Amino acid sequence: MKIHEFQAKQVLAKYGVPTPRGQVATSPDEVKAIAQEFGKLVVVKAQVHVGGRGKAGGVKLAKSPDEAYEVGKQILGMDLKGLTVKKVLVEEGINIAQEYYLGMIFDRDARKIVVMVSREGGMDIEEVAETNPQAIAKAWVDPALGLTDYQIRQLIFGAKLDRQHVKEITRFLKALYQAFLSSDASLAEINPLVITKEGTVIAADCKMDIDDNALFRQPELAAWQESEADNPIEDEARRRGLTYVHLDGDIGIIGNGAGLVMTTLDAVGREGGKAADFLDIGGGARAAVVKNALEVVMMEKPKGVLINIFGGITRCDEVAKGVLEATGQMELAIPIVVRLSGTAEEEGRKLLEGSKLIPAASMQEAAKKVVELSYAR
Ligand code: GDP
Ligand code: MN
Repeated sequence: MKIHEFQAKQVLAKYGVPTPRGQVATSPDEVKAIAQEFGKLVVVKAQVHVGGRGKAGGVKLAKSPDEAYEVGKQILGMDLKGLTVKKVLVEEGINIAQEYYLGMIFDRDARKIVVMVSREGGMDIEEVAETNPQAIAKAWVDPALGLTDYQIRQLIFGAKLDRQHVKEITRFLKALYQAFLSSDASLAEINPLVITKEGTVIAADCKMDIDDNALFRQPELAAWQESEADNPIEDEARRRGLTYVHLDGDIGIIGNGAGLVMTTLDAVGREGGKAADFLDIGGGARAAVVKNALEVVMMEKPKGVLINIFGGITRCDEVAKGVLEATGQMELAIPIVVRLSGTAEEEGRKLLEGSKLIPAASMQEAAKKVVELSYAR
């Protein structure tokens, strides 16, 4: 999930990464008022999910509040690569001496965070990667050790940054690394990282993506998700970080792993049932996630629900706990069939004993039961 620059900068600030003072505005009057408050040169920046805003006219400087009003009027409502600008970030201007590039990305192949540093800041980094790859210094972070002082020095020297700022850049990178980890980011790009004429280091721009699969444990960040879907249940599911698609049937489906959920839909179909949704709780889901999933599926007002879990990294006892927590307070007017197999399945089944939930030993049996019981009433 992409977050806006002003949101990313809030995250950075929380972890002690230096950012310019700034405020969001949605009208030229607001832009002017903020410029007045700052009482100096401001930069007005379009908040849309596109790169290269500067070149496209989405980032402009203003020397006075009146000029800020004019600039705000130009940028708000403008079309930037197909997106209409509805918000701008108004920031106090900084005295730029140098612009560097700094990026952190989760490298899926290496299963490590890779840190990239370059002197060629402000520019399109893909272009630098193509025309001058040696200009980008890289380091892969050992998760057990974290980003070390040694690695940071290697990066700074490798990218030929000004050695004068080693201390500030080290502090900056460490804070950014914390921000990255703590917010389950998959990408954080500071372009440019500015060295000011006063000798301080500051994030003039920030692009940040959050790992969609971690949104369930990042409720504050998940709340920033902009709803483009018109289905309110899909919105709610997204807010809760679930992989969910609304379908037209009446049997709620929950499973772990896209493949298993697909197979479950087919099994229900073969028994003559129609699925109300596709909901994948993912791998390693804990009780809270299962509870979340069941609550979302219940919003569809299904005739019945089938929970089909193959325990690998997901523990069946965690799933059972989640189902019990979710249904504990519910008046269960519909059948909920649960099939658990794999890791901790015995513990899971024991937990469900004596509850109103209906156990099934196989996927076929589960599909048959849920269809029969759902349509019988
Ligand atoms: P992008 O074009 O979408 O990457 O937006 P940036 O925030 O990176 O802004 C583009 C350029 O504006 C930067 O590379 C700077 O050179 C320039 N700029 C000039 N003055 C300022 C300032 O005070 N603050 C910021 N953020 N950028 C400035
Ligand atoms: Mn930029």
